[in-house]
Amino acid sequence: MIEKVVIANRGEIALRILRACRELGIKTVAVHSLPDRDLKHVRFADETVCIGPAPSSESYLQIPNLISAAEVTDATAIHPGYGFLSENADFAERVEKSGFIFIGPRSETIRLMGDKITAIAAMKESGVPTVPGSGGPLGSDSSEILRMGRQIGYPVIIKAAGGGGGRGMRVVHTEAALLNAIALTRAEAATAFGNDTVYMEKFLVNPRHVEFQVLADTHGNAIHLGERDCSMQRRHQKVVEEAPAPGITEQQRRTIGERCAEACRRIGYRGAGTFEFLYENGEFYFIEMNTRVQVEHPVTEMVTGVDIVKEQILIASGQPLSYAQQDITLRGHAVECRINAEDSVKFLPSPGKITQLHVPGGPGVRFDSHIYQGYTVPPYYDSMIGKLITFGANRESAIARMRIALSEMVIDGIKTNIPLQQEIMKDAAFIAGGANIHYLEHKLGL
Ligand code: ADP
Repeated sequence: MIEKVVIANRGEIALRILRACRELGIKTVAVHSLPDRDLKHVRFADETVCIGPAPSSESYLQIPNLISAAEVTDATAIHPGYGFLSENADFAERVEKSGFIFIGPRSETIRLMGDKITAIAAMKESGVPTVPGSGGPLGSDSSEILRMGRQIGYPVIIKAAGGGGGRGMRVVHTEAALLNAIALTRAEAATAFGNDTVYMEKFLVNPRHVEFQVLADTHGNAIHLGERDCSMQRRHQKVVEEAPAPGITEQQRRTIGERCAEACRRIGYRGAGTFEFLYENGEFYFIEMNTRVQVEHPVTEMVTGVDIVKEQILIASGQPLSYAQQDITLRGHAVECRINAEDSVKFLPSPGKITQLHVPGGPGVRFDSHIYQGYTVPPYYDSMIGKLITFGANRESAIARMRIALSEMVIDGIKTNIPLQQEIMKDAAFIAGGANIHYLEHKLGL
């Protein structure tokens, strides 16, 4: 069993990991940047190590500092959380080579899934449905590329194999624009990702974002925990998530979920992971795999009763999964609203001191957050300050509870996106369920 974990992250996810460790009787080491010494999990941790100044490039992204923190505290394992170094294969490899356990997949798996072309190829082999496309890197033969574009049908999207974070993509509407778009994407990809490999896919015009949560252990077992809908997005950032996804049938869930689990078995996946799909006209199209815990994992926890972070740690300790597929049944419905320290109209970050805080409660209400009255939200990091999650016997009840919870929440001293979340919770299309990924931006007039 893992004895001591370095939590290589900050904010709500660091606190979430700390709580899971405590429940398992595991000691914790909180690493933090200089301005983060007052974070809640830093106060609760058994040991703390300052790893550098405010900029994440000099602290949370500094691999040698994180390895040293594990060495000086005699830790067993490192949990990367999400963001920062969580999907960095070089970091995972350094952790492994330094003799620590990386709480996540093997570094080779992160590398395989980090390259979109190899990831798509691995999915196809397991029968996971992918977007119609070139199926591999685009070569230099123009007539071959034009023929491929015609076969896929316009619009198409050109994507960099090494891209991420919504960068390295270009939509092409006509054949006349294709070759130029490819040249531009290639050049950008070479500069941004050090890899000019690009590929072509059909561009889906009005899809939803539906993703499957999986867990896999080191004994060859893999299960899925059903799906989430994360279509309410602004600039490719998820704003509201829910589980299960409206309108997805038990049959679809079983078919796609089982294929994802099968893909995990085939690639020797380890830990928690998410298969992201675009969903349009009743069909699923794989776009990428996230090889880490996700921000929106609580909605799945609420409807399955599985503690995903605890499972990650148990898997990393070499234990078999606590559940078989038949043990997983979905119950009720859960919704998550991301609470950001930002202006609800202009979306500008709003750091500062929280002068008053009242957290909602009642049946089916969960608030995963590191904030407290008197806490100063620093300007250096992501603006998310918490996640409000509600659970109900059905979707209507979960949404009704969310409306009440949002109305009870008081965060004074800074601006938050609570007014926007309140708007969404009374929006007719959201209430109907199944809005597509462009809906929120259209509603906001963007
Ligand atoms: P990244 O790794 O940069 O997040 P993804 O492959 O996950 O890249 O794509 C990011 C977003 O781009 C998706 O959530 C979706 O909104 C859009 N997108 C990607 N591929 C397609 C496609 N084939 N058709 C339509 N939209 C797409």
